[in-house]
Amino acid sequence: MAHCCSDNEHDPMAKSVEEARAAILASSPALTDTEVLHLSAALGRVLAEDIRAPQAVPAWPNSAMDGYALRSSDGEKPRQLIGHCFAGHPFTGVVGPGECVRIMTGAVMPEGADSVLIQEQAEIQDKTILPRQHPAPGANIRQAGEDLQPGVEALPAGTLLRPAQLALLASLGIAEVKVFRRLRVAFFSTGDELRPLGSTLEAGQIYDSNRYALQGMLQRLGCEILDLGRILDNPEHLEKTLQQAAGMADLVISTGGVSVGDADYIAELLGRIGSINFWKMNMKPGRPLAFGQLGEATFFGLPGNPVSTMVTFYQFVQPCILKRMGKSAPWTPTVLKIPLAHSLKKKPGRTDFQRGVLISGENGLQVAGVGQQASHIMSGLAHADCLIILAAEAEGAPAGSMVDVQLLEGLV
Ligand code: AMP
Ligand code: MG
Repeated sequence: MAHCCSDNEHDPMAKSVEEARAAILASSPALTDTEVLHLSAALGRVLAEDIRAPQAVPAWPNSAMDGYALRSSDGEKPRQLIGHCFAGHPFTGVVGPGECVRIMTGAVMPEGADSVLIQEQAEIQDKTILPRQHPAPGANIRQAGEDLQPGVEALPAGTLLRPAQLALLASLGIAEVKVFRRLRVAFFSTGDELRPLGSTLEAGQIYDSNRYALQGMLQRLGCEILDLGRILDNPEHLEKTLQQAAGMADLVISTGGVSVGDADYIAELLGRIGSINFWKMNMKPGRPLAFGQLGEATFFGLPGNPVSTMVTFYQFVQPCILKRMGKSAPWTPTVLKIPLAHSLKKKPGRTDFQRGVLISGENGLQVAGVGQQASHIMSGLAHADCLIILAAEAEGAPAGSMVDVQLLEGLV
């Protein structure tokens, strides 16, 4: 069982972030249930089938530029303009020697033509086009099958569907896809001091902020969310809630109450009703972490401090959710190497996840700490756009050194 100890001491029994993550991933089975969805409802889902291209993309050779479709073998000789074609409006005749057709981007190449002269390289005299260069065969043409040949794998099962993947499926004419069902995630906050928004706080009370962090992170991951609210530090309530959560969800998350203290019942309870590990983590923030099984459900007991809740969620819960959703690896957040704008301090012993901001200036991209780094300082995380990871043994990092950075926001 984890004991939450004084700050910054090195504990040889503590688990490293990598060790804990590997153990979590090893016991996070992917869902097997699937459903068929229209593309318009499939954003954020994971493909449960390999998708092969039913036909070539593009299906026909077409122009990559606005210009003139012609025969390359005529060289720089003038061409007679015999017609035009636009995207969706092909030219139905044949381009013969000494002839050309006005063509716009995306229009199908007319029969007989093997090259597109871009309009900037053409001089127009009435119905005659004078090329300023010799158009090479195949120039400015998108060949049929250049994007995908018929029958090739366009997307493998396990692909997370982001906007680009949806567009690719649409380009293949695929309207419906088989995806894994949503992961059902139940969560609750524990703590007698927690009050809902809208209430007036009395001495020692605080608002339940973890609830909104969890809701937001789970929503972003496309989970079906079951918010079980705030649970008092009371063994009967906790036991009932845990049993209820385990019966309705694939994954259960609680915050608070995982360290050993007078009111921390969760640890003791879980030992009785599930198979749970209590890990003293070799990281900061987020020292205690509970992980295991509650019946069929995966269970995470996250530390109560809001910054610890979010940092441990990103490092451990998110990879577990992505794997359980059926996504193929990688499940862990991408780590970038970025130079530090100012030196950062830490005590050796634990891996630090400091809150940082990216700075784009005349020295290129750099990263800086946001100032106060304690695990109850939510304004730091709210102003941050990344986490700076400093190795357990490090005593800090000097300005200019390359540090590991995880971005808090993706492009799509
Ligand atoms: P605990 O892990 O229960 O010992 O909580 C550690 C710290 O986090 C305490 O200061 C709690 O008041 C605070 N805390 C616990 N749960 C929440 C929550 N849901 N929202 C905001 N703060 C919390
Ligand atoms: Mg508590």
